[in-house]
Amino acid sequence: MVDWKNPPRLFIPGPVKVNEDVLQQLARPTLGHRGKEYAQLHSSTVEMLKKILFTTQNVFLSTSSASGIWEASIRNCVDFNETVLCSCCGAFSDKWADVVRSCGRKADEIKVEWGKPVTPEMIDEKLSTGKYAAVTLMYNETSTGLMNPLYETSEMMKEKYPDVLVFVDAVSAMIGLPLHFDKLGWDVAFASVQKAFAIPPGLAVAAVSNRAMEKSKKVPQRGYYFDFQAFAKSAEKNQTPTTPAIPHIMALNYQCEKLIAEGMENVWKRHKKMGDFARSWAREKFALFCEDKYASDTLTTVKNTRGIVVADVISAVQKKHNTAFGNGYGDLKEKTFRVAHMGDITLEEVKELLGWIDEEIG
Ligand SMILES: *Cc1c(COP(=O)(O)O)cnc(C)c1O
Repeated sequence: MVDWKNPPRLFIPGPVKVNEDVLQQLARPTLGHRGKEYAQLHSSTVEMLKKILFTTQNVFLSTSSASGIWEASIRNCVDFNETVLCSCCGAFSDKWADVVRSCGRKADEIKVEWGKPVTPEMIDEKLSTGKYAAVTLMYNETSTGLMNPLYETSEMMKEKYPDVLVFVDAVSAMIGLPLHFDKLGWDVAFASVQKAFAIPPGLAVAAVSNRAMEKSKKVPQRGYYFDFQAFAKSAEKNQTPTTPAIPHIMALNYQCEKLIAEGMENVWKRHKKMGDFARSWAREKFALFCEDKYASDTLTTVKNTRGIVVADVISAVQKKHNTAFGNGYGDLKEKTFRVAHMGDITLEEVKELLGWIDEEIG
């Protein structure tokens, strides 16, 4: 029986399980968004996020899901006569290219087979035409569980194309995977909080470089809700342009305190351990969908080599243990399945879930 008030624990790749202590943060008394208490909450959250993302530049809190920042990056930082190079390796990166076009800008795509990475060489070849003002990169393609080699790509871009802006969808990567925003030379990188921040959906975090801010001053018709200039102006007062999702920011503040206490190197190691375990299980019982080297530490996509009925296993596990994991995305449904191991999901919980799947597949 479906009961939204007693839902399964979520091991789907977003939203993911949220711990009770985090949920409690969303129930704190409301603050006036122009008051001193909010300014204190805002400034301490942004300061911690800067440490977490290894940046001294701008961090904005957007009351939207991450898709809003797909649009914001384009509308703020790309002029109407400019072309964006979009690296497409799955459902989410494909959508971003659609967003570029829906904002009236031109998009050229590098398209690889699902489960394959977009390499620095592919991007280099395209950028060498000198045609592009910006490039969109997908750190972690959640539809396939693929992690692109963005450190290598970013080094290549810094060296050979320092004037091309770099936009990074880090939605299912941020917190779980290394992210040194300033060192990588990125211009916009973002995530929604229902992935590895382990908070209910409703808020997005965006790091924006100073040069992206300079560029946006010259771009006309940036729109109203996602105008980076408006965000920056409000940030001077430790505010947001419109009333933000204050309960989510309280939960984010709480999560940031824990992340800083743990140390980001340790947080990334913790995710890698879960990834290693899930991958070795997948190799033993099935196969990995992505090549090892590119398999993500925040979720594992398992290739259904045994021809199990994935939907049946998902519902059996849900019925017995009130826990849900993910079927494959789109065309990969039944051909793959996905287990999230990010945020406040623990290695013990991943082991337990994979054990339950074992019981079902015999
Ligand atoms: C979940 C996800 C998105 C979409 O995020 P929303 O918060 O739903 O807008 C975009 N990109 C990636 C890689 C994702 O995993």
